Amino acid sequence: MSEVVTQAGEAESRDLSGAAWTDRYSRAVMDTFGSPQRVLVRGEGAYVWDADGRRYLDLLAGIAVNALGHAHPTLTAAISAQLGTLGHVSNFFGTPTQIGLAETLLRLAQAPAGSRVFFTNSGTEANEAAFKMTRRTGRTRVLALEGAFHGRTMGALALTHKHAYREPFEPLPAGVEHLPFGDTAALEAAFGPEAVAERGEVAALVVEPLQGEAGVRALPPGYLALARRLTEDSGALLVLDEIQTGMGRTGSWFAYQQPEVGGGIVPDVVTLAKGLGGGFPIGAVIAYGERAATLLGRGQHGTTFGGNPVAAAAGLATLGVIDRDGLLQSVVTVGEVLRSEIEAAGNPLVAGVRGRGLLLAVRLTRPVAAQVAAAALEAGLVVNAVAPDAIRLAPPLILTADQAREAARFFATVQIPEEPAP
Ligand SMILES: *Cc1c(COP(=O)(O)O)cnc(C)c1O
Repeated sequence: MSEVVTQAGEAESRDLSGAAWTDRYSRAVMDTFGSPQRVLVRGEGAYVWDADGRRYLDLLAGIAVNALGHAHPTLTAAISAQLGTLGHVSNFFGTPTQIGLAETLLRLAQAPAGSRVFFTNSGTEANEAAFKMTRRTGRTRVLALEGAFHGRTMGALALTHKHAYREPFEPLPAGVEHLPFGDTAALEAAFGPEAVAERGEVAALVVEPLQGEAGVRALPPGYLALARRLTEDSGALLVLDEIQTGMGRTGSWFAYQQPEVGGGIVPDVVTLAKGLGGGFPIGAVIAYGERAATLLGRGQHGTTFGGNPVAAAAGLATLGVIDRDGLLQSVVTVGEVLRSEIEAAGNPLVAGVRGRGLLLAVRLTRPVAAQVAAAALEAGLVVNAVAPDAIRLAPPLILTADQAREAARFFATVQIPEEPAP
């Protein structure tokens, strides 16, 4: 057999230590993510195992992705069956799983007549498509919020706020303005006569109902309702990025569907990815109503893989299990266990817990999130230092109350020594 195509991962590689794998990683994989915290070889339910045989309770789920945990039998069977039947066709053709998933998403979204779905392979591509839709309004002014994360491709990056992500890649597509987070006066001013006279009418406002990457920050109550009124009055699109918050993560199919979050609004566009495929890469754009659904006409957008039958089967299976097993309700109750047990323990390092359902952040009283995440890993928990003073928890939606208590026990006792005064 040719040695050019290696059999890494099999045979002699199987027993490599984590350190040896990490060494190979650093020689072969681009350094954009830094060194991996562990090299993982296996998962089952809410647990993963590393190359050294250590087990971890996965409270991050691939960053809010593995809704059904790892190696879920229904998802595995659905993907395998579809791959063994019809794995890929081009978008010159339709497939039953693609059509079925589009119809299911429209039903879950309670989308009005004329609504349509566009499938992608990732979150950033979903936002890229949404960005192209905003240009088709004939306007170019797009509003986003400070702290926003919408992805890393050039269009989505223009919507993302973080300077360190943007600056090396400028010039980015023009027309995006970032408004102070949750500031209703700034939002009204952006639609006001002076701003319009100076910079033109608004094409779209793009927002996350809860900012995930910014540390699980919820918009103030009433913000989305105001956003809906202002966009509607001016003929602008309201685009909700539910890539992280959607598909059951916060206890409803879409976060905006909770009255306290969305106040009963109907958006023009919702973007999805992360949890949608249960770990299989897929994203989607839902366009609500005829106007939004026809912004991208024939030939104006495309993708080779988007909506491929295997990804669509993964989406259908994931949504099917969430529905069948009552996981939306479980997300609410288990999320509450996680929150209340962590808060009740009264660890002086913990200031509180914010977020919704199973998208939570443990607020710390000191900026030691990186050390807390490292201590968690040592203790057998995967968490994420999402901000200097916040730990993000986005576990699989199948997390049990007992597993939530196991996680809470870590936060009850974790201690990080104070730096000695210089
Ligand atoms: C993760 C994320 C994205 C980008 O998704 P990718 O699949 O990583 O491209 C966009 N928006 C939000 C809110 C996200 O959480």
